[in-house]
Amino acid sequence: MDKIFNNTQIAFSLKSDTELDRAYFLFKLIANQPLVRIGTAVTNFAIKAHLPVEGLIRATVFDHFCGGVNEKDCLSVVDKMSSKGVSSVLDYSVEGKEEEEQFDAALKMTLKTIDFAAEKQAIPFAVFKPTGFGRFELYEKLGEGKKLSETEQKEWNRVVERFDEVCSEAHKKNVALLIDGEESWMQDTADNLVTEMMKRYNKEKAIVFNTLQMYRHDRLDYLKKIHDLGQAEGFYIGMKVVRGAYMEKENKRAEEKGYPSPICASKEATDENYDAAVDYMLNHLDQMSLFVGTHNENSSYKVMNKIGQLNLNRDDNRLWFGQLFGMSDNISYNLAAYNYNVAKYLPFGPVRDVMPYLIRRAEENTSVAGQTNRELELIKAERERRKKEDK
Ligand SMILES: Cc1cc2nc3c(=O)[nH]c(=O)nc-3n(C[C@H](O)[C@H](O)[C@H](O)COP(=O)(O)OP(=O)(O)OC[C@H]3O[C@@H](n4cnc5c(N)ncnc54)[C@H](O)[C@@H]3O)c2cc1C
Repeated sequence: MDKIFNNTQIAFSLKSDTELDRAYFLFKLIANQPLVRIGTAVTNFAIKAHLPVEGLIRATVFDHFCGGVNEKDCLSVVDKMSSKGVSSVLDYSVEGKEEEEQFDAALKMTLKTIDFAAEKQAIPFAVFKPTGFGRFELYEKLGEGKKLSETEQKEWNRVVERFDEVCSEAHKKNVALLIDGEESWMQDTADNLVTEMMKRYNKEKAIVFNTLQMYRHDRLDYLKKIHDLGQAEGFYIGMKVVRGAYMEKENKRAEEKGYPSPICASKEATDENYDAAVDYMLNHLDQMSLFVGTHNENSSYKVMNKIGQLNLNRDDNRLWFGQLFGMSDNISYNLAAYNYNVAKYLPFGPVRDVMPYLIRRAEENTSVAGQTNRELELIKAERERRKKEDK
């Protein structure tokens, strides 16, 4: 496959000159590591101190990486992207909440996005985060094999009920449901719960999708184990495959607590592990559905080649590519132009509540070698192309 991701005309077809300039300015800022560090600290402080910084955040990172403050705001973006064949996953990105009311609010919002997805072809998936439905410590405690107190057990039963409610609704409405992956020390409990949901709701096809974070060296074995279980017990496997967003946190905790890090020894090892998992799933599509969540061009080309080799249709419904809104439009829009299934996560929520998400994006773009540079190079190339076209 030629290097289709270099086509900047297709990549930025929805961006006006002004929007392109704004994106360039933003990535220039994000590329500056000290600035991101200071900016993050100042913003966190300002938000805690209730200083009026929301306007500034909105005009910069928020509008670039988010669809709006509520689900309705997102619909115009959904329609715009859909006009170019790119679908959306509405992602209620409020994080780090610990109260029952907030878990119930996340449940309600997820149910609402399932409704949206059922009604709109341009929204093929709904999504939620395990810790959006229950306290992190509960997942952690269960993962360590500790016994819950009576109150905690009741609290946990409510988490299970929330999972069951959204999965059963997704099944009823025939909407695929992605469940995000988080820190490894809570993930075992989430994995067990998601597997239980797959057993219940993936009998006819993959409705419930778990997430495999391939920066973890144990995940390929885990995938094979789940595959065996699916075959033995008669359910389909849905998996979003990503590299993983919490690497620094994982390594730091492992070092502090003195256990071997769950993360692959190098970037190359993660890349190999990622491609191996995706390859394994593509070889078993009769029992699996795959959501390839990546901004990595090589991994994406490999999947495209394999789709060709296996003679699969590019728009086979068991096979989706996904990127995050505000990043790697060159991959998303060019994939769509070649008729592959592609969806962008479109985060939304009140400005101050989506800050942890935004900070992860800023840090990721600062730390992932080459990624921000690539965005800048592509924008530069498109500006040049437009200038020439004007002449
Ligand atoms: C649609 C979508 C959904 C996502 N959902 C989730 C989710 O549910 N949970 C989650 O954790 N993340 C999620 N992510 C984020 C994802 O995990 C990555 O952080 C991000 O996509 C960058 O990785 P990449 O595959 O795009 O490629 P690249 O930019 O090629 O890879 C960067 C990644 O490689 C790994 N890496 C970097 N350096 C090293 C090293 N020295 N040793 C070992 N590994 C290294 C890290 O995982 C790093 O993030 C999602 C991403 C997308 C696009």
